[in-house]
Amino acid sequence: VRFFGLFLFILTALYVPTVLAQEASQTQYKLEATLDIFSQSIQATQEVVYVNTGDRDLDALYFILAPNLNREPNPNLSPIIIDSSYPKGFDASWLDVYDVVDEAGNALNWAYEDGPETFQSYSLEQNLLKVDLPTTLAPGQSTTVVVEFETKFPSSLNTDQSFHKNIYTWRFAWNPVAVTATDLVDGKYHSEGQDYVRWRYPAALYEMSFTVPDHYTVVTGMDVQEQVSTDELMGTKTLILKSDVPVRSIPLSISPNFKRYTLPNQDIPVHVYYLPSEEAAARQIATYAIEILDDYSGNRGQYGYQQLSIVTSWASGYFGMAADGFIILGNSGFAEKDLTVAGMADRFLEYLLAHEIAHMWWGIGVSTDLNAENFLSEAFAEYLSISYFEEKYGNDRPNVVQVERKGFLENLIDAQFGYLNLRQHFSELPYLVVHRDRFDEALVKPQQSVEFANNSQTRIYNKGYLVLRALEGTIGSEDMAQLLLETYEQYNHGILDTDLLKAQAEAISGQEMNSFFEDWVYGDASIDYGIERVKTNPNEDGTYTTLVTLTRKGEGRLPVEVVLLNKDGSLTRQTWMPESDEETLTFITPHPLLEVQVDPQSWTPDVARINNYFPTRLRIIPDGGVDVPLDSYLIRFDPISQILEGGYVLDYRWLLADGLIAFVMNQGRGNTIDGALVFGDDVLAEFGWNAILYEHPDLGIQGKYWEPSHRLRLSISRRLNFDEKAVNYGGVTYTFSQLLNARHVLQFNTLIDPFSFTRLNATALTQSLLFPNVTVDLQAEFGYSLGKLPGFLHFNMAELNSFYDYKEGVKQKLGFPGRHKGSARLSVSFPMQRDLAYSVAGLALVREVRGNVYLTAGQTWNEPDGFDVDNLLAEGGFEATASGQMFGGLLSFNVTAGVAISLLGPGLTDFTTFEPYLRLGIPFL
Ligand SMILES: [Zn+2]
Repeated sequence: VRFFGLFLFILTALYVPTVLAQEASQTQYKLEATLDIFSQSIQATQEVVYVNTGDRDLDALYFILAPNLNREPNPNLSPIIIDSSYPKGFDASWLDVYDVVDEAGNALNWAYEDGPETFQSYSLEQNLLKVDLPTTLAPGQSTTVVVEFETKFPSSLNTDQSFHKNIYTWRFAWNPVAVTATDLVDGKYHSEGQDYVRWRYPAALYEMSFTVPDHYTVVTGMDVQEQVSTDELMGTKTLILKSDVPVRSIPLSISPNFKRYTLPNQDIPVHVYYLPSEEAAARQIATYAIEILDDYSGNRGQYGYQQLSIVTSWASGYFGMAADGFIILGNSGFAEKDLTVAGMADRFLEYLLAHEIAHMWWGIGVSTDLNAENFLSEAFAEYLSISYFEEKYGNDRPNVVQVERKGFLENLIDAQFGYLNLRQHFSELPYLVVHRDRFDEALVKPQQSVEFANNSQTRIYNKGYLVLRALEGTIGSEDMAQLLLETYEQYNHGILDTDLLKAQAEAISGQEMNSFFEDWVYGDASIDYGIERVKTNPNEDGTYTTLVTLTRKGEGRLPVEVVLLNKDGSLTRQTWMPESDEETLTFITPHPLLEVQVDPQSWTPDVARINNYFPTRLRIIPDGGVDVPLDSYLIRFDPISQILEGGYVLDYRWLLADGLIAFVMNQGRGNTIDGALVFGDDVLAEFGWNAILYEHPDLGIQGKYWEPSHRLRLSISRRLNFDEKAVNYGGVTYTFSQLLNARHVLQFNTLIDPFSFTRLNATALTQSLLFPNVTVDLQAEFGYSLGKLPGFLHFNMAELNSFYDYKEGVKQKLGFPGRHKGSARLSVSFPMQRDLAYSVAGLALVREVRGNVYLTAGQTWNEPDGFDVDNLLAEGGFEATASGQMFGGLLSFNVTAGVAISLLGPGLTDFTTFEPYLRLGIPFL
């Protein structure tokens, strides 16, 4: 560290003017840091000029040591789940403090403290550094503290705070972050009586001299990024990274493998960092980013940084993560977007990029408490990006997957995904599902009070966006744009909270916003508008009077637009301010009525749009195309498969096919009713009821998580074989699964005809971790029956892969049917190849190959005491499964090639049979 002191001195001198100018009000960090690739860590000395921005004296400073949140593994999760995040088993991330001194180098008293349970209940030790100040720090005064520390990048498959595939990634708080005085309670970071602890990244001025191996590329979002020296002896180079404006962190992505593309001649340079072979995608991403930046800068306020750096993640997927001037994008946008059908993922990638860039305005630029008010970040990023997308591609038609070229696979993609609409299917539909499942709750609440932690993402992103859209519907588009612009300009590089937003909305719109915020932001209101009756009559003067009786269910009343579409194509509008549950509006129009529409522009988050139209809308698809309309009944015919089906999105579905009639009704939370009638050699009718009961496992996180642990199915069936008499039976199936705390599945199934037979079946599966990345599955099945078990309900040994028979030259798999069964299977799964990007003719990208060896043994028998060790069937086998991405990286595939060897069984003399097999899990195949 000492070696670089001279550089730091020179550089500090260079930047003195800025430092002096900001000194009075702004906390500043100056770091002198080195990336040590042998210990996979950053070693640094950090000087903090801390300003007491609070209103009381401080005796101590607190620093958050966020890397220590992953120092210990989560003791509540199954080791298999923890292991799945690590390439070589759990690896801790940590931050160790070595020394704390004052400006003059005098030692300061310091200690580690436990952190609060803001997000998690484990690994809380050493989450805080408390530094005692030698003299009290009065409000407005500043003091300097120098911390020497080291932060370890764990070898981890997480996409942030990790080292993997020679990429070091860390966006926020890899250094000790000083808690701002306004976030301290009685001079402490957290105290007993506090309702909850806010999690905010205060913006501060950062400057760092950073020494890395000379062939490494450092990607960051800082305004100034300059190489200032190289040391040939050490093989290192030193960079200066500095922000001109207050930022949340020094975000880092570092690798020797990155290449860079910069779109030249732009006001705001956009740098895209990619891996070899991804340059075309990098250039495309740069052009999207420039367009988005131009649009936002013109409409949403001036961009707050000098540049934007976009860097690929090592990990496949369409995801993004933002920090100041910095975006990490999942590798699918670089390496997979043109697989199989080129261009099919382009618009989705553009939307994703628009979301991440929007965070430069909202979430990073204007930041907030990520514990309770994360919607101020995510919902606003959704609002900006979806608005941008709809402005560019339209909002009322399919707009996500648009394949212009004709071709066999292109037509397939068009038929399957061509219907997708960004707002309807990526925001409204997830919200409708959560509402139907009764998992909806308020947007603003701390993690500890979250009732449905399993649906936080839908709540914060999708519902949050719909609520902002409802706010636009309430105050008007102009005021909404003004609200966003003014709030951004006032709070950029600062912290916003919901009350401030409400005050801004009231000031700009001149409307009182209490009920809006109480219902939609602090509360869990919902709304369903509907048309109850429509009466329309001609008047004597040639005009028409139409009476529209409207209903409102739910507490979240919002003004709603009611539109009459007249026969001549003209529209007549009224806004309904619902004061009661039912009201009749009167329209007088010069032309007869064609359709009544309630909220046709979807300004409100209406949870059922099917009743918003008169007459009820019906969408008929005669050519087998797919659609999920949210406002109409669907009837769809597929001329190839000859399937006719229909229903309404979440409520029910029915299906008529050759030899099959089926329906399912959804009552939410996994409760469904279904029925099916199958015609073949036999006729089978079955009627069933399914229920799910939830457990709330302690997962080490705050908030209540709902795991669907108990599944019950009750059914009655009738099977008619024309040769025999009908068989009637009832069924009870109970499945218990525990997949988060541990890995077990237990299933009991009983089929009973009280006059004829009873059939019992039990299956147990347990999974455990043998070594890092190597799992063992043990499965056992037991079947038993009483009475006259009909042939079609006999047990069999279908799980065997190597037992075949030749009948008249035709190879047939042996089923070994019987009235009773016992079997067990042991298998070990292990990685063979991973982190691949192996292209298969541009159709698919293989990402991983896993191996699996197994041993299966068992038998079926007919007499109650017929079990006989001599008749045991046994086989061993080996499989390799290659998996990866196809179709623009939006769909995955897997291919399994295996060989099974029969070890014990009838007909086996002194040789064993090798039976090769292949299983394909390829989309549309
Ligand atoms: Zn986001």
